[in-house]
Amino acid sequence: MGLFGMKCERCGSHLKEGESYDFHEKILCEDCCMYETNPPKACDPMAVSAALSIRKQLGQSGIDGLTELQKTICNTIEARGKITREELAKIVSLKPEELDQQFAILCHCELARALKEAGKVYLTKW
Ligand SMILES: [Zn+2]
Repeated sequence: MGLFGMKCERCGSHLKEGESYDFHEKILCEDCCMYETNPPKACDPMAVSAALSIRKQLGQSGIDGLTELQKTICNTIEARGKITREELAKIVSLKPEELDQQFAILCHCELARALKEAGKVYLTKW
């Protein structure tokens, strides 16, 4: 820890000197700055349709052709039955918005879906 000691205003991670970014008078880390300047959509149609057409070409189904990360997400959902987005993000060490991108692909591959129960959103198997 240097004397700099500043924290990202969005994710709260400690910033080293030279690694802080000003964004509309907020001090952000590099990741958050990228996220703020180019926010990913919860469902990126381009990424999803690319993933789907590759799967189709290769005749993949189930968890075939998924990245290790996507498989881990699937397996975690399967092990838990249902899990909140925040909890799952913590387990697989992703930021919630990064998880959203992966989850959108799993949804479109009909492997996972969101489930609303008692006002809370859970992620569960398709
Ligand atoms: Zn940050």
